[in-house]
Amino acid sequence: MCARFFSRRGFHVDVDRAANVFARRGAPGVLVCAHLDDLGHPSRRGVGMMDGALYSITGAPLGGDDKCGVAIAMYLACVPDLPLTVLLTTQEEVGSVGCQEFLAHSRDALDGVMAALVLDRRGTCDVVVNACGVEFDPQGEWTALVIDAGHEVGVPSRAVTGMMSDAVVLADAGIPVVNVSVGYRLPHTPAEHVYLHDVYASLRWVLRALRKAGSGVAAPRSWG
Ligand SMILES: [Zn+2]
Repeated sequence: MCARFFSRRGFHVDVDRAANVFARRGAPGVLVCAHLDDLGHPSRRGVGMMDGALYSITGAPLGGDDKCGVAIAMYLACVPDLPLTVLLTTQEEVGSVGCQEFLAHSRDALDGVMAALVLDRRGTCDVVVNACGVEFDPQGEWTALVIDAGHEVGVPSRAVTGMMSDAVVLADAGIPVVNVSVGYRLPHTPAEHVYLHDVYASLRWVLRALRKAGSGVAAPRSWG
């Protein structure tokens, strides 16, 4: 489904044997990464909405971790002519297995990628800069750009220490990376919920970061 979505919007798409979806349109620039698997109900889960928040009605986690990240990546793909490189991984929740598989067999696909944004952090303003003893961006320039981009769109972004995610794997591969908040709250619990305005805020933040990085895009004024 995801592969078709991106190919219909002018992306070259590869799906590897781990079912990771890699999609590129235009120059490499910044890699945007999110994960497709989640801890939600295995069948079509029930989702309720109250006061602007999505929540689960099944007793299983909502799955906003990391459908919020995937949704932002898909929204970016709908911005006409935005150069974009996207990696949607599998088996992240069991140790970033998909991301490791991708790097083991397709590292060449990331040639020319200068930095990465992982869209897989709870809350609204975190910029994860290290986890599991790994520094994500030793030079700090990419981190500073992403934090500045947040402040420019009204997000009080700040550096924090995080947990295992695909960002650890990308950093280990030598790619400057940060993992930013995409709006889900209380992940991995039955109380996981997502305020849509938080996802929009992260979308504006990510767009601003891409623009500052030279991807040549501005967020339409109407968003959020
Ligand atoms: Zn996640």
